[in-house]
Order: sequence, then C-alpha cells, then structure tokens
Amino acid sequence: MEGQLEVIRSRRKTVSLEIRRDLTVVVRAPWHMSDQAIRRFLRDKQTWIEGHLAQAMERRRELLPPFTEGQLLELKQQATRAIPARVAWFAPTVGVSYGRVAIGRQISRWGSCSAVGNLNFNCLLMLCPPEVLDYVVVHELCHRKHMNHSRAFWAEVERVLPDYQMRRNWLKEHGGALVERLRPKTVDESLSFHPDTSGCSKGGAV
Ligand SMILES: [Zn+2]
Repeated sequence: MEGQLEVIRSRRKTVSLEIRRDLTVVVRAPWHMSDQAIRRFLRDKQTWIEGHLAQAMERRRELLPPFTEGQLLELKQQATRAIPARVAWFAPTVGVSYGRVAIGRQISRWGSCSAVGNLNFNCLLMLCPPEVLDYVVVHELCHRKHMNHSRAFWAEVERVLPDYQMRRNWLKEHGGALVERLRPKTVDESLSFHPDTSGCSKGGAV
C-alpha cells in the first residue's frame, strides 16, 4: 500500500477510514481496538484504499500550478504588512516579548521561533483563513514560554485560542496543497513537509 498511515484513537465507537489529500491513510479507531484488529481492518479494506489512493493521486496531479516569483513576492509584501501586527496584538495576551519578525517561504514550516525570540512566518499564511494565521502566530509566541510541544505548551495555546484544534486541523487538511505549490523550482526539494504544525523541528519551529 502506498501512502503514510496514521492511526487516531479516540472515544469513538466505530472505526473509519479517510484518505487525505497528501495521500495519508487515516484510520480513526476506538481506544480499545488493538493494532492487530486495525491491521485486519486495513486488509479487508485494501481494495477500497487502493482505489481511493489512485483517485487522490489523480487529484494531486490536477493541483494548481506552482506559484510564480511575482505571486510569492506579492504574498511576502502582504505578509510583511499584516503579520507583525498580529504578533503585536497577541504578544501581550500570551504575556511574552519577541525579537525580529521575518517572512519566508519555507516548504517545511509555517512558522518558527528562535531561542532569542526571533519569529519567522511563511508568506503562504496570507492564503490561509485569518483564524489560521492567528493560530500560527499564537503557536510561535507560546514557544517563548515553552520551546517544545509539551502538554504545558498546548495548554498555553489553548488558553489564548480555545478552538485552536479546529484551526490546526485546517492546516493539516489544506496546508499541504498550498505548500505543494512552492515546488518544484522555488525551494530545496530535499526538505520534506509535515502538514501537522506540531511537526516542529528543533528550535521550536512550527
Ligand atoms: Zn511549534
């Protein structure tokens, strides 16, 4: 089977299957369902999965074309005007200071926070809903308190944005398609993209 597999256990009673745009196969299962039972379920559904993966790959080919340099420049200008204001707005609520705010076009992350508090944001955030942009801003500001993704970190994000999960899910579901459009010419292809903002690398990047 092609594609990544992600198993999400929760209080649900039934098991469900979903193919994400990035070709991840997502199984949502009840807490008590064993790995073995999940594997059996996947085997039973193999034909369905393969069919849908093929469709998803077809859709991927139809994705919008890569951004042009002009479009990226425009996005960067917009971001340079808009994002520092959102950072300034949320910093007092989070209760932190910060250093420089820079805008980039990294394929690997939506934002990052350095040890000295310099913040970097992806210009593609300008194509996300405003509440998603705010989530990434708050996420990075919360790294000024916790340079990790500990429980305490997420509790802080939740204190500022009680509905942060919804915002984060938007990025998981739609972020990949946006980032795909940075390929192939404008970025280093060797970097892999993690649509989940919690996939931060060291230094508290989103
Ligand atoms: Zn992070």
